[in-house]
Amino acid sequence: MRVLVPLGTKQMVGIVLREHTEPIPDAIRLRDVIMALDEQPAVNPAQLALWQWIADYYMCHIGDVMAAALPARVCDRTYSFSPVKKRRVKLPEYIGEIEDIHPLNDEQQRAKQEILQAWQTQETVLLHGVTASGKTEVYIHLIQEQLAQGHQVLYLVPEIALTTQLTDRLQRVFGDQVVVYHSRVSDGLRAEIYRQQLHPQPRLIVGARSAVLLPFSGLGLVIVDEEHETSYKQQEPAPRYHARSAAIMLAHQQGAKVLLGTATPAVETYHNALSGKYGLVSMTRRYKDIELPKVTLIDLERQYHRREMYGHFSDPLVERMREVLQAGRQVILFQNRRGYAPQLQCVSCGQPPRCPNCDVPLTLHMQAHELRCHYCGHARAIPSICPACGGELRVRGFGTERLEDEVAQYFPEARVLRMDLDTTRQKTAYQDIIDRFARHECDILIGTQMVSKGLHFDDVGLVAVLSADHLLNQPDFRAYERAFQMLSQVAGRAGRKGQQGEVIIQTWQRDNGVLRYVLNHDYEALYQEQIAERRQFHYPPFYRIIELTLRHRDEQAVVEAARLLQRRLQGVFAERVSGVVVPSIARVQNQHIRLVRLRIEAGANIVRAKQMVAEQIDYVQTRHKRVQIIADVDPQ
Ligand code: ADP
Ligand code: ZN
Repeated sequence: MRVLVPLGTKQMVGIVLREHTEPIPDAIRLRDVIMALDEQPAVNPAQLALWQWIADYYMCHIGDVMAAALPARVCDRTYSFSPVKKRRVKLPEYIGEIEDIHPLNDEQQRAKQEILQAWQTQETVLLHGVTASGKTEVYIHLIQEQLAQGHQVLYLVPEIALTTQLTDRLQRVFGDQVVVYHSRVSDGLRAEIYRQQLHPQPRLIVGARSAVLLPFSGLGLVIVDEEHETSYKQQEPAPRYHARSAAIMLAHQQGAKVLLGTATPAVETYHNALSGKYGLVSMTRRYKDIELPKVTLIDLERQYHRREMYGHFSDPLVERMREVLQAGRQVILFQNRRGYAPQLQCVSCGQPPRCPNCDVPLTLHMQAHELRCHYCGHARAIPSICPACGGELRVRGFGTERLEDEVAQYFPEARVLRMDLDTTRQKTAYQDIIDRFARHECDILIGTQMVSKGLHFDDVGLVAVLSADHLLNQPDFRAYERAFQMLSQVAGRAGRKGQQGEVIIQTWQRDNGVLRYVLNHDYEALYQEQIAERRQFHYPPFYRIIELTLRHRDEQAVVEAARLLQRRLQGVFAERVSGVVVPSIARVQNQHIRLVRLRIEAGANIVRAKQMVAEQIDYVQTRHKRVQIIADVDPQ
């Protein structure tokens, strides 16, 4: 129940976790609760169990989880759960016509039966279906059965995929039973959804990450769509939880089933499916047998060498774009600028210099005149030539804005929209851009990874990736997996109806295996290669990573604390501990940042390991009181 408590000179809303029966030590000073705020509980016991699991697993305080779970209004003392409150926001009513659900085709029907069968013995099933195979239609059939049995269903999607394309479709089928819950929903409405969830009724909650923290009862099914999406992991602030893991735990606690759906599974998920921990069901054909897009690689090295380039556009790309636009169809240009870390790249072999210990590209630190590894802290002087082939090294990188200028220059007649973090700051901007492009009010859509998320555009004739190299060269052991996922998802935007879609990928690394796999739509090959590397270089799922971040305004203080923590941890965990790592962005808002990483064998006692990590953090914390130390378990 919510209670009002004194905290210092303030009064705060808190939640009663449990009652004390043991005597309280003298050192602890107790104060009285001012008053109880509700007649009935504000949190159900099942929810508390999940919050506790999150706090334990992700090494944070249960209060952090509570703050993430409760809408701000519920944390206000004037809010009341009981009826007759004027300020309550009403859930929007659905006034359209209800539609029948589409009958499933043979492959979808088979997939559905296999899923139901797998659930007989397994709680979690992976639905691995190529883009546009109709995964959403399969979900809809499964949801309908659950609702008919009086169960609740949670349908998680990455925040960015919560467009009206999806919610409209679900509302047309399930009407008022659909409730949409994510960060762009007003706080008042979220509070009302939260309140209503305290009373069991069959309904479909469609939401982003935080919907997993809502109260549920009679939950029958959790769907995690695009399960490979990294936005399911909360980065900042705590709780740094993964909604997929939390969803699996939630379902387990409630006796519900889980369906993970994607065209490009996370390596960890596929590993679990192959090892029998999850069920595995595949769909290999697109709905109506529309062909998978034809992917062509363009060798930038050769294009630049022959000077057959317009800015960042190769001659063949410009030519294809002209043809497609002339035919009255649309073009999507993809350029990933987010998370771009400055790197050197060899002009001849296209490779950046890599870390000898970790097999990730080294990151350029201009001020320190060094290349550094973001995993182990390895540093070296900036080489004058490529260590692999002796070629010339250059700093690379350009973003969506620059691209927009070039498009204006080479395609002056085309109507252009740009979609990235800068153009979508306003609440409705993202939806507006998508709607305008879907209505064909624009010819070319330029975007970052935002354009790759499960959208359907009927008129798109060509999808082009201006440079696959940033994706391939991220300083991250997941770089190749991510590159494959992103490129496959972007490619999936081409060729929805009518004819085979076309995808052009420009690259300096035309021999890179990942691009071959994208070309051949061969997830299996990508997986086999990646899992072998994960095993060899001690990465998940064979090892768990715990990343410790230290922050302070004073660089000296943070370095000393990081060194002490690193030494202490090494005393316990030996070679499982990295050196002190200087991240690429080593100072944010005047806070200096250092990292220490731990890799722990998947089979080890992780609970005990976390306890030992927590003890060392406490030890360092008492000596460096003002340095902030943050643990991130399974960082993405
Ligand atoms: P995925 O989620 O696998 O990418 P979707 O479920 O979004 O694919 O389906 C792709 C397109 O095909 C959508 O426009 C969808 O409405 C249509 N579609 C898929 N299956 C059916 C079906 N059984 N009946 C009618 N339309 C379908
Ligand atoms: Zn390294």
